[in-house]
Amino acid sequence: MTRITPSQAVVLASGNQGKLAELARILEPLGVKLRAQSEFAVPEVEETGLTFVENAILKARAAAQHTGLPAIADDSGLEVDFLQGAPGIRSARYAEGGDEANNRKLLAALDGVPRAERSARYQCVLVFMRHALDPTPIICHGSWEGHILEAPAGSGGFGYDPLFHVAAFNCSAAELAPRTKNRVSHRAIACAQLEQALRGPDFQGS
Ligand code: IMP
Repeated sequence: MTRITPSQAVVLASGNQGKLAELARILEPLGVKLRAQSEFAVPEVEETGLTFVENAILKARAAAQHTGLPAIADDSGLEVDFLQGAPGIRSARYAEGGDEANNRKLLAALDGVPRAERSARYQCVLVFMRHALDPTPIICHGSWEGHILEAPAGSGGFGYDPLFHVAAFNCSAAELAPRTKNRVSHRAIACAQLEQALRGPDFQGS
């Protein structure tokens, strides 16, 4: 196993400020400064992979290659069992018209489908690459189970949250307090795994 050397800076292959803040909080106590890829004008990479893992690696590799720094990237989406896993890796572009169009398309695709067959989950893959040619990236994976409602509920969150019902809280993800969502979501689970990996001997022990 390749050991990794703690570095002063790690680049995040995302323009999302929320992700930057969440990951920066994890990395700061480890002596690592997270920097946005926008600081380095990393060119947009085409997400040509067929899995969340491939797409996260493509993004992290491009950021590492362009900056010469270790890189973190994530890829996430919604998987609906009745739709054989769609919208999946195409979640952001499912209807090619933004969140509302995506939700309308999802409701139409599940029109008349009974509650018992509306199971779904959010998936998040988070990847850490020590360098662009890293043959063993750290790959973390969080999933969050739910089912798809028949009508939107709530105004918080983003994306498919108004349609994503969470049994443990008996409400949609868009009705959860942001703090609660950030504690239990697919992204929170993947982030916790990354934190554990970066606190482990491969990272801290070099
Ligand atoms: P990205 O990986 O942040 O680009 O997210 C991909 C797409 O998956 C988003 O545009 C949303 O459609 C969907 N998605 C991922 N995570 C969530 C979430 O926590 N809530 C709602 N939609 C999500």
